[in-house]
Amino acid sequence: MRAKRSKKYRKLMHQYELTFGFREAYQVLVDSNFLQAVHNFKMDLMPALERTVQGQVKPLLTKCSLAAIMASQPINPKTGQPYRPFHLPPPTILPLRHCSHNERSEPIDEVDCLLSLLSPNADAKKNKEHYILATADPAVKKVDRNDNQQRKRKRDDERAEEQALRRARTLRVRARAIPGVPIIYVKRSVMVLEPMSTPSENIREGVEREKLGVGLPEKPRVNTEDAAEGAEKKKKPSVKKAKAPNPLSMKKPKKRTQEPGAAKTPKKKDPTEVSKESETAEKPDGEEAEAPKNKRRRRHHKSGPREGNEDDALSTEAGPAMEVDA
Ligand SMILES: [Zn+2]
Repeated sequence: MRAKRSKKYRKLMHQYELTFGFREAYQVLVDSNFLQAVHNFKMDLMPALERTVQGQVKPLLTKCSLAAIMASQPINPKTGQPYRPFHLPPPTILPLRHCSHNERSEPIDEVDCLLSLLSPNADAKKNKEHYILATADPAVKKVDRNDNQQRKRKRDDERAEEQALRRARTLRVRARAIPGVPIIYVKRSVMVLEPMSTPSENIREGVEREKLGVGLPEKPRVNTEDAAEGAEKKKKPSVKKAKAPNPLSMKKPKKRTQEPGAAKTPKKKDPTEVSKESETAEKPDGEEAEAPKNKRRRRHHKSGPREGNEDDALSTEAGPAMEVDA
């Protein structure tokens, strides 16, 4: 069962690599609930993460997540600072991801912070930095409050827990809406990698369609980037068409010696030669240099003897015929 799951996760991360450009070591944004769950279920952060994504990871904690963790900690009366919680790994294992959402760079709501990093542009949802989100449902505190006096406080706690649960769910729902965000989630003491969300899956299918559809005319474009790629691919056939003018460019030096010999040469050419010539013919200088020459000659012949003009006409007829041969 475990081997089957690891194979599935390796395949899934491979799809994120192909479709969205993920690379090891994967950057993993861990949130406060995730760290709490890892601690509660006695998991080892790094090995558990690396087993889940089947690759090297670089876990990161945002400043706002750290603030959320410290906010729920009791204050040490000696220092006046909150106690460092057991579930917070040292910065050597879990470095801070500096984030600033406002001028004074004060911490903001953890969920808002994470979502802003996963998709910096709210309109064009894109996980540019290739972050993985590692999250969990908040831990449920087991507190026995049977006192009549504390019943109200119990209700308040339950309400707070419900709210925290709703926030955790909101984070996952909104992260799934951003294409290309792998989500690691602690589910009943097991760390899981969620299947691709529908928006991610749609992009992945679009990429695969693009690969299959290479060379097919009038294929539907997914977005502007794909359209640009398609345009590049379309240029390639036109390069091949550029073979046609090459025999003309080759003909000129040979025209001085033998006309029929020149007509045969294009057939003998091997493809490598043709491609080399097409490269030279592509250069705008070469084309521009040729065109005026023809014009000059015509002007010259008009004023000159008519015999020369007829030769020129023959040679231009040979041109298109050779194009067909080539
Ligand atoms: Zn932040």
